[in-house]
Amino acid sequence: MTGAAGSPRARAGAGASGKSAPAPAAPAPATPRRPGLTTRILHPQGAPRNAAGAPLPQIAQVSAFAFSSAQEQADVFANRRPGFVYSRVANPTVAAFERTVNQLEGGAATVAYASGMGALSAAFLTLLSAGDALVATPGLYGGTVELLDLLARLGVEVRFAASSAPADVAAAIDATGGRARLVFAETIGNPRLDVADVAGLARAAHERGVPLMVDNTVATPCLVRPIDLGADLVAHSTSKYINGFSDAIGGSLTVSGRFSWDFARYPGLAKFARLGKLAVVAGLRNDVGPALGAAMAPQTAFYMQVGVETFDLRMGRICDSALRLARHLEGLACAGAVAGLWVRYPGLESHEGHELAARQFGGRFGGILTLRLGSRQRAFALLDALELASIVSNIGDARTLVVHPATTIAAHLDEDARRASGVYDDLVRVSVGIEDAEDLVADFDQALGRLPALDPDAPPRAGGPAGHGAASPGTAR
Ligand code: PLP
Repeated sequence: MTGAAGSPRARAGAGASGKSAPAPAAPAPATPRRPGLTTRILHPQGAPRNAAGAPLPQIAQVSAFAFSSAQEQADVFANRRPGFVYSRVANPTVAAFERTVNQLEGGAATVAYASGMGALSAAFLTLLSAGDALVATPGLYGGTVELLDLLARLGVEVRFAASSAPADVAAAIDATGGRARLVFAETIGNPRLDVADVAGLARAAHERGVPLMVDNTVATPCLVRPIDLGADLVAHSTSKYINGFSDAIGGSLTVSGRFSWDFARYPGLAKFARLGKLAVVAGLRNDVGPALGAAMAPQTAFYMQVGVETFDLRMGRICDSALRLARHLEGLACAGAVAGLWVRYPGLESHEGHELAARQFGGRFGGILTLRLGSRQRAFALLDALELASIVSNIGDARTLVVHPATTIAAHLDEDARRASGVYDDLVRVSVGIEDAEDLVADFDQALGRLPALDPDAPPRAGGPAGHGAASPGTAR
């Protein structure tokens, strides 16, 4: 309808008598409101995703890009004009996904990688040199602990704080004698499920001239955007909740653009000094990224983009179901209905970081919980008896996944590192999916009902908070 007669304004102005009614007061101009997370993901501002008008990005399945002249190619190589040269550095499909993650995390720029480990490696190699120190909170993902061991072999001191409390991290920074160049934490540790106080850690790091990097894979930007709380770099394994369907491996690094780099302390960034606070973006994308060769593939970026569009929707349901399941299982444990059962989840008041989580995460607590069952035999029996939950060493899938960390994801860690990661022989990690919560509760009920009896001669359980393992104090490795 194009004519004025059909317009709402024309209809409103003509009363039944034919006399014109007094014009209704014009609505006050609406205060521009920020669209919600899912709206922003589905309707991004800026460049169209696909020149043909399709709502999803075109898959630019190419390794290299052609130019109309040698001069144009030289200009793009020299960053004098925008463009793509080679997919190990940048690719339009990947760039579309990078814009989405950047919007999710509220950063200045995001670079995607072939995996979460690729993202972490790129960040560490960009910011650290032999003789520098990295301060980490305990209870990190096992693959990250192995990467830190590798860094130590290359001459970087890796110092674990006694706990993820800001005061302990500050003490660990001070103990490096001015050599700390990065503080690293996971917002929710995998699988120890410690909760990091991001604002407190940012303060502790910044007061000592050091940036804070946070792995936000488990918490996700649905719970918290670490940059809003002062973090300088945010890493993701996008293979998890951002993808959501276990169909591709990927990673990302988002940069706040707020940290002032002292190029004498960060020699890897010195050649990009003209970019000031954004020098780190060039380091990640144009220097270490291409050297590492861990670029995200265009096809992967497409899968990630499709997955991320339902990310907030899935997370809401996952968090609700995880809380429901955790409360139910803790109820069974407290009632003594399942001997030897312990439950750990940041949404439970029994979790030592519950108050912080409630404050920091806006009432959601993530999709991971851990259970202790008294013995490896009972942990294995639970995995085998579950019918809906699949035995898979992954998290963040639409399906509920369970794993026995001690014999899988943490099997390669030595005993001390395993304990520091909160991994015990009787521990099971549950990544709650989007199945109907009551079906999950019923599945765990039937599986727990089939466990072998607890061995009365078993040694008492070792461990810290809620029997799930304490920090290894102040270890440098
Ligand atoms: N960070 C965390 C917290 C993880 O859980 C994982 C993988 O499980 C990674 C990083 C590594 O990610 P990717 O498997 O994509 O390399």
